[in-house]
Amino acid sequence: MQLRMLTLHKPIHDEMVARARTATPLEACGILSGSDGGVRTHHPMTNADASAKHYSLIPEEQFAVAKAIRAAGETMLAVWHSHPATPARPSEEDIRLAVAPGVLHVILSLAGSEPEMRAFLIADGKTESVPITITEKEQDDV
Ligand SMILES: [Zn+2]
Repeated sequence: MQLRMLTLHKPIHDEMVARARTATPLEACGILSGSDGGVRTHHPMTNADASAKHYSLIPEEQFAVAKAIRAAGETMLAVWHSHPATPARPSEEDIRLAVAPGVLHVILSLAGSEPEMRAFLIADGKTESVPITITEKEQDDV
């Protein structure tokens, strides 16, 4: 089943923004897991590229997180990375290197005065925007 929306608890959003700001000028990245499009857990990941223009995950780290997600009874919903100085749109490389079909790609841009977070489906070289809802409540209360 392909996700068509993502719901994010505000503290997780804020944690992602803090992490992206700390990593600047390099890109930060992470994995979001939960169920039914509702994010419950943020797994910060190492950007193996240590680059300002792209990122890649470390396979061993990704494997360990995938295992932890299964153990928690959750599913992997999205891979996110920051764009320290460019808009919240997938770059040509993001589209070309998009992995994990069925998982959303979230981009957090710090280019504007306020952080901007957007989610995309990327498949076969095409991208489609997917809405993100940021909630003040815990997912369990929704
Ligand atoms: Zn990117």
